[in-house]
Amino acid sequence: MGKVAETGVVILRTSGCAHAASGACTMCGYNIESVRGAGADDLSAQFAKAVEGLGDVELLKVYTSGSFLDDREVPAEAARTILDWCRERGTGLLVESRAEFVTEESVGALTGVHDDIEVAIGLESANDKVLKYSINKNMTVADYDRAASTVKRSGGKLRSYVLLKPPFLTEAEAVEDAIAAARHAALQSDTISLNPVNIQKGTLVERLWKVWAYRSPWLWSVVEVLNACASLDRKVVCDPTGGGKERGAHNCGGCDGAILDSIKDHSLAQSRSALKTPECDCHDLWQTVMELEGFTVGGTCDLQRFFRAP
Ligand SMILES: [Zn+2]
Repeated sequence: MGKVAETGVVILRTSGCAHAASGACTMCGYNIESVRGAGADDLSAQFAKAVEGLGDVELLKVYTSGSFLDDREVPAEAARTILDWCRERGTGLLVESRAEFVTEESVGALTGVHDDIEVAIGLESANDKVLKYSINKNMTVADYDRAASTVKRSGGKLRSYVLLKPPFLTEAEAVEDAIAAARHAALQSDTISLNPVNIQKGTLVERLWKVWAYRSPWLWSVVEVLNACASLDRKVVCDPTGGGKERGAHNCGGCDGAILDSIKDHSLAQSRSALKTPECDCHDLWQTVMELEGFTVGGTCDLQRFFRAP
């Protein structure tokens, strides 16, 4: 097992994701966090405060509610402050961006100054229909491909996000869709990050969940996708937000902790072998859901809650 990189995380409250104005993604509630009109000085001050006392880290992840490479969201002066901080300390910088803001200029403005830049792009799904109708991503797979090759050509490392279980897919379809997306992402990515949907406030996913039309993915599904990714020969990481809770990826409650631990160990060790998971009776229920959900009227629903209902 190799050395585990010390990672720091900074979350900047920016003016928000450009896509929020065009409807936002169905599972994304981050825009609630954003501040209207956060300018360069404000962001630089937020950054200075956030890294105070952070110490030495090998990689600094700087998250916004949208795209670091969108200069309306992160003005050039603020980006430069962050970049200089990382370059002076020899710290890698990871930023996120929607594909449309990834250009040779925008990536080159980072890689031209600092040689340890990683750009994370949400591919989510390798199916244009899922991107359009389930996620409302306002991006095609071709858009992602172009952005991905731009990052690589400009000397950056590429991390791709793969989404597990956007709305309107059955559990089985979601597993298949995430595996296909990971395979596509592996064509260009240095790292693939599998992100099981968690139910965020104010989203379409939350509205569906409230009327039993959505269940966040099973941890068994996360395990299934990660095991399928073992053969991709890429670094695959997964840290399910809200894992084990009703709004996050979860199983029966009894086996969740042990499975989350094994997912975490697997991510850190970058093992290519199958995950070691405990046995639990809920595996049968998950398998039943995988087989039968597609036959329910209307397609997707939270079958587990129906099973439990009086
Ligand atoms: Zn269980």
